[in-house]
Amino acid sequence: MLSNKKDIRALSKEQLRDFFTENGDKAFRGNQVYEWLWQKGVHSFSDMTNISKETREMLQNNFVINHIEVDQMQRSSDGTVKNAVRLHDGLVVESVLIPTETRTTACVSSQVGCSLDCQFCATARLKRMRNLNPDEIYDQVAAINKESLLYYNHKLSNIVFMGMGEPLMNYNNVLKAIEKITSPEGLGISPKRITVSTSGVPKMIKKLADDEVKFNLAVSLHSAIDEVRTQIMPFNKNFPLADLKEALQYWYAKTKRRVTYEYIVWNGINDTRDAINALVKFCKHIPCKVNLIEYNPIDDGDFQQANAKAIDDYISILEMNDIIVNVRRSRGKDIDAACGQLANKS
Ligand code: SAH
Repeated sequence: MLSNKKDIRALSKEQLRDFFTENGDKAFRGNQVYEWLWQKGVHSFSDMTNISKETREMLQNNFVINHIEVDQMQRSSDGTVKNAVRLHDGLVVESVLIPTETRTTACVSSQVGCSLDCQFCATARLKRMRNLNPDEIYDQVAAINKESLLYYNHKLSNIVFMGMGEPLMNYNNVLKAIEKITSPEGLGISPKRITVSTSGVPKMIKKLADDEVKFNLAVSLHSAIDEVRTQIMPFNKNFPLADLKEALQYWYAKTKRRVTYEYIVWNGINDTRDAINALVKFCKHIPCKVNLIEYNPIDDGDFQQANAKAIDDYISILEMNDIIVNVRRSRGKDIDAACGQLANKS
């Protein structure tokens, strides 16, 4: 049920401290409540056991604790775990835990649905319903951290914003969530272990550089030829490659951090020598690396993963040009948890 009371987690620590002093209590009480909300992650005021009953009742009368609920959890045969996450208003997003031998990575969502229109992505078929709040993003990470401890006996090691949505179209909330994820009062995860992936919104890439963020940036490039990119990612018409290039150069000048380009090779779309040459040229603009990602079919035939020969051509020509290239196998396909498959199907 929706409540008119304010979500207490929308308050900063300062605001919570002020709330208590304004109500005749000590500012320190704000710190205690903040710790319950963020470090201990309680979902109910009654769980705040070092707070007096009267104070808990007073909080209950003024606030709610909006929180996510992991509705359904599926485990893939390769160990990948997908959470269907129910938000306080009933909408659902998905997040994924991806284990490897040495680490676990959380792949989290930033929007319900997506504002962009990549033709090969299942999430794009859901219209964008709303942005996630900072705490809804944080909660997905906290839930996956718990699962990582439970199933793999260690804390979550990395986070990628590659779930549903375009993180740079929900800029402020994503940055607020990352602030909390990296803070010692939150999960204390280093920003070096966080990657934000964008389809490439030039203005917002520049803003990231201006805001001196410390996390990594990945760009879903998929083609370095405008006509082709516009065909598969129609928003490229408004944000053409020249603007993207300029924004990335700005990013690099300010941060000195290498950008990762995500790239899928499809049959008949970008499996030509011209396409490879264009990518090589684009890669020369700033230090970067290329992740060739496996295509996960989303049930129509327009897009098909190119054959091994085409991918080998990409690898050898990129390497010949001293460009770092990795091939990323997809994970969790049997439970629709792989890149681009998140569409609330479970
Ligand atoms: N909007 C952001 C983050 C979400 S998509 C972005 O575009 O980067 C995360 C990654 O999955 C992107 O690189 C995207 O291009 C890729 N992707 C989308 N659909 C896919 C599919 N069907 N198979 C494989 N990767 C896909």
